[in-house]
Amino acid sequence: MAVSRPLIENYFVGALQMRCSVVTDTVSGDTIIIDGGAEPERLIAWIENWQGRGPDWSTGPSFADYSNGDLPKRKVVALVNTHAHFDHSGHIPDLLKNYNVKWYLHEDDYFLQTLAQRSGQRWGFDVPPPAIADEKLIAGSVMSFGTIDLEILHTPGHTLGGCCLRLFVDEESDHLFVGDTLFAGSVGRTDLPDTGGDFDLLSKSIHDKLWPLDDEIIVHPGHGPLTTIGEEKMNNPFVGLSAKKDVFSRGKYL
Ligand SMILES: [Zn+2]
Ligand SMILES: [Zn+2]
Repeated sequence: MAVSRPLIENYFVGALQMRCSVVTDTVSGDTIIIDGGAEPERLIAWIENWQGRGPDWSTGPSFADYSNGDLPKRKVVALVNTHAHFDHSGHIPDLLKNYNVKWYLHEDDYFLQTLAQRSGQRWGFDVPPPAIADEKLIAGSVMSFGTIDLEILHTPGHTLGGCCLRLFVDEESDHLFVGDTLFAGSVGRTDLPDTGGDFDLLSKSIHDKLWPLDDEIIVHPGHGPLTTIGEEKMNNPFVGLSAKKDVFSRGKYL
């Protein structure tokens, strides 16, 4: 089922400024955290008490509405990941300490997840021992997290288990959380170690799974600005419909 007027918040977290998205059904209060990879205290403080720095971007409502109590108490019902790179998953263990919920990841990234702490350390970051995902994201299905439904689009290429997550919204554009599969004007790197990166596969995933979607869908990439399916399909220099066939790219971002 589609949600009406969801509260969607984007937080750029950690040194790599990874986009963590927090989605709340404003009717039930059910909330999911997508890619809770860093700054767990900041996320928890805002989700629980509207305290601290809060999100960098949000669909609203306004702060006055929050403090008037016009929103139901938020209840985190699941953690969901687009993929297992450490910038997206490194601090999942800290969120799991606070929230007694299940963590969902595509199983083709389970091995990659075991490397999160080591990869983080290689970049000089302090990351706790990795969590083990509780539940598999099932490709091609619509999965329910409390009252929030997401369609799971498996889009390997940046990593083996990379997924894009579609949120259906009543009477407004849907939102698509793409991790590092697609960026505004770019695509995810395909040269990272132990990851299964493959540019041809990434390009095929995007052409097969994303370009058939509605042009108006709002795309939330793992790094950088928001975009839309229509904009990237037209103009993305690596995978857009006008991109040269023989363009090869390592993409960017982890
Ligand atoms: Zn990333
Ligand atoms: Zn990544």
